Parts: sequence; C-alpha cells; structure tokens
Amino acid sequence: MMTQKKTIKLLLVDDSADDRELILMNLRRGGYNPDVRCIDTKEEYVDALKETGWDLIICDYSMPGFDGLTALAILRDHDIDIPFILVSGAIGEELAVKAMKAGAHDYMMKDNLKRLVPAIERELKEAKLRDKHRQAQIERDRLLTVIQNSLNEIYIFDCKTLKYQYLNQTAINNLGYDADKIQDMTPMDIDPDIESAEDFKRIIQPLLNGDLEKDLYLTKHTRKDGSTYPIEIHLQLIRQNDQQFFTAIGFDLTDRERDARRIQKQKEIAREMAEHSKHKSEFLANMSHELRTPLNSILLLSKLLLKTKSDNLSEDQLKYIDVIQQSGKNLLSLINEVLDLSKIESGEMEVSYETIDLRELITNISDVFEPIAKDKSLEYSVSVYENCPAELVSDQLRLEQVLRNLLSNAMKFTEEGRVELDVYTEIPPEEKEKRIVFTVKDTGIGIPEDKQKLVFESFRQADGSTQRKFGGTGLGLAICRQIATLLGGELTLESADGNGSTFTLSIPLIHSVDLISESEPQTDAGHYPSMSAEETGKSARVVLISDNPDLINAFSEVSDGFPVALNVIKNSKDAPKKVARYSPATVLIDPYISNYSGWSVAKQILNENSPPPAVWMVTDDTHPIPAVDFHGLSGKVVLPLKASDINKIFSSPGPGTEVGENGSTLLLIDDNKIHNEALSEFAEEIVDRCLIAPTAKEAFETLNTTSVNCIVLDLTLPDASGRDVLKKLADTPVFADIPVIIYSGRSLTNQQKEELLVHASDVILKNVGSHSKLMSRIAELIQTPAKGGEAIKAKKVTSQPTVLAVDDNDQSYFSICSLLESNGQIVQRAFNGREALQILESHNDTIGLVLLDLMMPEMDGFETIKKIRQDPAKRSLPVFIVTAKAMKGDREECLLHGATDYISKPISSEKLEKLMSIWMP
Ligand code: ADP
Repeated sequence: MMTQKKTIKLLLVDDSADDRELILMNLRRGGYNPDVRCIDTKEEYVDALKETGWDLIICDYSMPGFDGLTALAILRDHDIDIPFILVSGAIGEELAVKAMKAGAHDYMMKDNLKRLVPAIERELKEAKLRDKHRQAQIERDRLLTVIQNSLNEIYIFDCKTLKYQYLNQTAINNLGYDADKIQDMTPMDIDPDIESAEDFKRIIQPLLNGDLEKDLYLTKHTRKDGSTYPIEIHLQLIRQNDQQFFTAIGFDLTDRERDARRIQKQKEIAREMAEHSKHKSEFLANMSHELRTPLNSILLLSKLLLKTKSDNLSEDQLKYIDVIQQSGKNLLSLINEVLDLSKIESGEMEVSYETIDLRELITNISDVFEPIAKDKSLEYSVSVYENCPAELVSDQLRLEQVLRNLLSNAMKFTEEGRVELDVYTEIPPEEKEKRIVFTVKDTGIGIPEDKQKLVFESFRQADGSTQRKFGGTGLGLAICRQIATLLGGELTLESADGNGSTFTLSIPLIHSVDLISESEPQTDAGHYPSMSAEETGKSARVVLISDNPDLINAFSEVSDGFPVALNVIKNSKDAPKKVARYSPATVLIDPYISNYSGWSVAKQILNENSPPPAVWMVTDDTHPIPAVDFHGLSGKVVLPLKASDINKIFSSPGPGTEVGENGSTLLLIDDNKIHNEALSEFAEEIVDRCLIAPTAKEAFETLNTTSVNCIVLDLTLPDASGRDVLKKLADTPVFADIPVIIYSGRSLTNQQKEELLVHASDVILKNVGSHSKLMSRIAELIQTPAKGGEAIKAKKVTSQPTVLAVDDNDQSYFSICSLLESNGQIVQRAFNGREALQILESHNDTIGLVLLDLMMPEMDGFETIKKIRQDPAKRSLPVFIVTAKAMKGDREECLLHGATDYISKPISSEKLEKLMSIWMP
C-alpha cells in the first residue's frame, strides 16, 4: 500500500550537487516529498530567510564562501526558529559541540545519513510544539497587556492566605505602592472598612460555599499616603483545573462621585437662579403695581381734561396736558417692556395660540401706521402675496407686538422714502412645515454691519446718540427676537449703513400643537359660513371656549362618542361673535380663559343670542369652579368628566328649550324615588329647576357644581344622617346661606325640632297635604320670584343701578369715578372691604356692579369678594377686581376667589366700557 508522501519545504545549503542529491534521495526514501531550494552563498541564504514557511534547513558545514556556523549565527540574529541540521564530510567531537552550542538541532556525517529522516521527524515535531508555546505566550502577553492597562483595578488573591498574587498597573498606580510591596498585602490592608481577616472571610464565604457566584459591594480603598477613594468591587471565585483563587475588579468611583457632586452643584445653582429670577419677577410685579397705579390716575385724569376741554384752559395748557398724556403713555410702555422682558427671562411669558385672520391682522396694524407714514411723508405699502392663506395659527397679541415694533422702528429711522410690509409663505430648505414670513423694509439710515448683532441685545442701540435723537430704550428688538423664538420662529436683519434695513420675521404658519384644537368651520376665503350641524353629519354643534389644553383634550375625546360637532374657540375677545355665527346648541365656557373672563363671555352670549344656547361653565380639577352664578347658566362641570355630566351636556336639547332659561334651583335630597318624582312635579310650578340627590354624596357633588337656591332635606339617607348633612352645609361657608327645609317622615320631639332649627329654615312633617305647605315655604325662601327673569328686568328699568367702587387710594378712586361719571354712571365709594360689605347689605337692590381694588387696608379684595360670594343672592352680582398686578397667576387668583372679571391698571377705558355694556346693559 502506497502512503501519501509528506511535503516538506526545505532550504538546502550545499555546494556539492552530489551531496545534495544524496540528501534528497534519503528524504524521498524516508517518505518525504521535498519542496526544495538549493543555495550555497550567504547572500542567497539571507534572501531565502526573508521568505516564511520553511520547515527545515539542512546545511553543509563548510563551503567555499560560506559555512554552517555562520548560517546558524544569522538565524539567531534574526530570531528565527527553524529546525537546523548540520551535515559535514567529517565531524569530530569538538565540532559537534560547537555546532550544538551555536544552536544546531542535530548534526550528521554525509556518508552516514541513516539518522537523517528520524532526526527530521523529531525536529519537526518539536518545532511544532515550540510554535504552539510561542503562540500561547503571545496570547498570554496580549491578555496581560489588556489587564495591565484596564481602566479598572484588577486583583488576584489567594483563597487561603488572602495575599495578593497579582495586581494590575491601574491598581498599583491608584494605590501608590511599589509593585513588590503589594505582593505581601491582603484586601484588609487596603480596605479601611474591613477590620480583620474574619471580616473579610465573612464576605468571601458564600462564594467559597458556592452560594453566590459573584459579589458586588461599594467600599473605599486606602492609598499609601493614607487618603481614600470610593470604589465598587466585583468579587469572583475562579476555579481553574484544581486551583482556585479570587479575582476582584474595582471601579474607581472618584470621577462618578465628582460628577454627581458637580451635577448636584449645578442643580443648586439652577435652583438659586430660579429663586433669584422669581424674586426679580416678584419685585418687578410689585414695582409695576406701584408705578401703574399713580400712572393710571395721571392718564385717566388728563384724558378727562382733554375730553371736557373746558373753556378756561388755554392752548398752552391743553398742550401741556397732551404732553402729560404722551409721557404717561411712554412711561407705561417702558414698564410693559421691562415686565415683558422679565417674563420672557423667567419663562413666564404666556403664548396663547388662536386662529388669526390675516387680513384683520394687517388692517389692525396698518390703521396705526398709515397715518404715521402720512405724517412723515413716507410711502407705506403692504403686499400680501397670493400664496398666503386667509388664516394662520399663532398668538395674535404677540405677533402684532413684534410687527408694530418693527414698523415703528422703520418709520422712526426713515426720514424719506418708503416703508414696506411684505407677507408671503415658504417652506425653508430642510424644513417640512410651511412658514409665514413678514418682512419690514425701509429706506432709512440703516444699521452698520458691526452693530447688527448688538441691536438685538437688551438696552442696546445701534448708535449711542440714538437715545437723544430718537428716544427709545433699546428693549424692543430684544423682546421681538425672544417672542419670535417663543412663537417657534426667528427674526433676522439685513441692512447696510445708510442704505435701509430689512427685518424678516418667519414663524410657523400653523403652530403644530394647535392643529386639532381650533377646529373652526372655514371656507377657502376664510369666511365662517354658518354651517348647519346636519351638513357636518353631526346632529348638534357644541362650542368650547377655552385656552386650557386639558379641557380641550377632555372634551375633544368625549365628544367623539356623541352625535355632536365640537368647535373650540380660544380667544375670549371674539368668542361671542363666533358663537353668534355658529348658533350652537350648547356652549361650554372656561371661566379662567384669558383676556375677558369666561363669566363675561357667558353673560354676553346669553345677552346676545335669542334663544340663548345652553351655557355650561367648565374647569379642570386644578381650577375649582368659583362661587359665581347668574341667570341663564345651565350648570357647572369640573374635570374629570362624569358620565352624568357628559350626558347632560351633549344631549342638551339646544336653543329655545327650558335648560338655561331660568335661574332658581331647588335641590331635593331624599332617597325615595317616587316621592322625589312627585315632589319635583309640584316644585316645578314654583322653581325653574328641581335637582334630585338620593344620597348625601351626590348632594354635595351637585352643590359643588351647581348653584342652588333652596334645599329640601330628608332626615334619613343611605349614606349619612340628615343632621350630618345639615351640619356640613352650615359649616361650609359657600353653602351656609342656602335655606334648608327639613322634610321628614319621622315625628320629632319639640327639642329635636329646636335643635334642627338652629341651622334649618323650617321643619315640615311629611303628612297629608304637607306638600302645599312645603311649596309655599320654598316659594318664600327662594328670594328671586318664580320665573324671575322678567321681574328682575322690570326692576332694573325703574331704578338705575349704582356702581360701587371700592378703593382706598384717592387718586385711583377719583380717576375711575371720573371715567364712569363721564359715561353717566352713578358711583358710590367704599374705602375698604368691610365698608363695601355694609353698603351692599343696606343698598342691596341698588348696587348693580362692584369695582374692587385688591390691595386695601383692613379687608383686602380677595377677602371681600369671598364674603360677598357667601351670600347666594350675591353670586350673580358682577364684581370686577381692579389691580395693577400684572403677573401670570394674578388673574386666575382673582377669578378663583369669585371675581366676575379682572381689569388691570391702568384701566383701559375700552375694556371697562365693554364690560359695563355686558353686565349693565
Ligand atoms: P429702541 O427703538 O427702543 O431704541 P429697539 O430694540 O427697537 O429699541 O432698537 C434698537 C436699536 O436698533 C435702535 O435704537 C436703532 O439704533 C436700531 N434700529 C432698529 N430698527 C432700525 C431701523 N429700521 N433702521 C435703523 N436702525 C434701527
């Protein structure tokens, strides 16, 4: 049988062809198939060694130009390990020793090559082993390098002695010891928390027992110099062959702790800054109050002087008054700007998105600037490009503020030429949403390049002399840029010294959060058609007037399940106008909506729509429903929505039905269903609404959301006794004044009756014919006569109601009073809350409206209004809080305490007149 020959790559160094043949023949005979290169000079040898893959070198001991010992030396020098066999014609012992010393693996005589093949076999095997070792060594070195250079500390220690057998460089560096010192140490020496070997054994025992695979703990390590650092240790028992030892990997936590401390510090700084900014805002709010109040008087009185233009005022004096007016206005705008800036800085600037009619916006602005341009003989033009839609969604107030500022600057800094306002839409590169762009271009003095950045900073003007020449504060553009950012857009400038300026404001056409909410019916031309509900495929239209996203979301969600079309109006100012256009069945109003309060909006809607829609007041759970009520409201609802509320609201029958037409409400608290039904039949003769609560719990739920004029209470209820309910009603200030009639089936002793009468208005026994007695008591107790609307109206015509102005400050009162009196109002004054309450008590019928200052001695505005609202009969009295506090939250607080609306100082005569027309038509 033929065996496969083993190929061997052989370098044969011999000058004799015969000898070479002899060697090769021996190899072949021994089962090898040599792939041979024959050489006989040093150069050829060195060249050949540059190649890799040689299995074997067979070398003649001496050649004319080369010899075996030199060949061995070259191998050594190059650190090459190839089996090397020396062959020689004659070999003595001395030579043999020399050859072996030089590194030859074997040697033999040319005439006796019997040993050649076995020697080759042996050497190849050994070379293979050597190679394996070498590879293993490389592997080990590599691992060791990784371990040595690991960022973590790595330790190996003996299981019994606990002495370290190995520490990596990181551990040595961190600990600061010399490497050889550490070999004698144990974990107890570097961990200050481990006091004794016993301590440490307790830690490692579970690992030794096999109960735990790995242990992880946080501790400290002590450096040579005694200092410590925090470290996390991962401890593991390693079993290898029959050996076992511990490895510990340590993560130095110094950086992490430092980072944590730094983050903590940064948080503290941020907190301090927030605190600081809050104080600043508060200070500014108070300052603005102090400034606005007297300013208010100045503006109102000077306006009054101008209006009366009394004959004894000279031309000059009239001019002075004009100056007073103008300076007051300038001062006011400065205060507003400073306040705006501080609001933006403290993140309190509110943005409220709404649908803006582009044409209306442009007209509003042009109405102001056309006359100014004319006055300065400047050309003024507005171009609205064709790609502009009729409407956009943004904050109208803020947008107008920016455009006004830009136009006012353009006019101010342009002596001759043109001012242009261009409006177009575009999708900027790398953006998806369409933007609307307003450019304000002038041919004025321009802004030099090096000042273009600076003009956007607060209190900075392009030219230091600008202040003297043109006035201004340098705040306008800073505010404009911040507002632009707030609106999701940007404000940029292109200009050259002496060559005019172009300011470009680019904002999203539709602010994305608003895509769903302002869902108005709309045609391409931007007109609101009075689309009937049928056209939309829904059966009734419900309008929600709110800018509170929680309310909007809640109602959008539930309305989906009803056959209604829900429209959201976020701007209180034009809400009544829009409602008139939609003619909805139901209107839901958030009393806390900004600008005009929800109460004023509700009142106006009720006044202006005939028949009026059902009007519900709605709030979220963070804004309780205040104790305000008036003729025509259908009820109050607080989030989260209850199924019963939703049903009532969305199944409202719509305009012209009894809901919302009348005011007096009776609450029957009794668990007998049939009895209730019967009683409410009778009650409906004398009250407008009869609500039923079968349990105490439901009774209070009703009371919390609906204003009730009289309660009929049974003494036994499933969840409480009637006495408890009576007590709770008496103890709750807002309910304390609601008359309660106990209507009980139980016979009562005189003493029991007396006790009940402490809080109850009457106690009537359920008896034959008792219902007629009950009804007449109810009729007596409900002060507003049955079907009261007509009666109230009739009364109002006969006597003109008085406005009660409550203000301790003479100037302030005088200016308000003058404004009202010039409109033909009768005004009565109270100096503080207590006095106001007395007047209200004694002139119950004549006071038609209260203007209440917030900051007064003795009893402040909040306290006063709370007291007023405790009387259910006065929940419909319009009370406006007048204050110079202008910060976020103040408005809400006023409404929360029961204000009907809120007027900030200086009083805008337009707003006051509008509110008067709503509440005292
Ligand atoms: P103010 O006008 O109250 O000083 P602004 O912040 O509105 O403050 O403007 C800052 C400065 O920028 C102005 O004082 C003026 O130097 C420069 N500036 C603004 N608009 C223009 C313009 N259209 N042309 C030339 N300069 C302008």
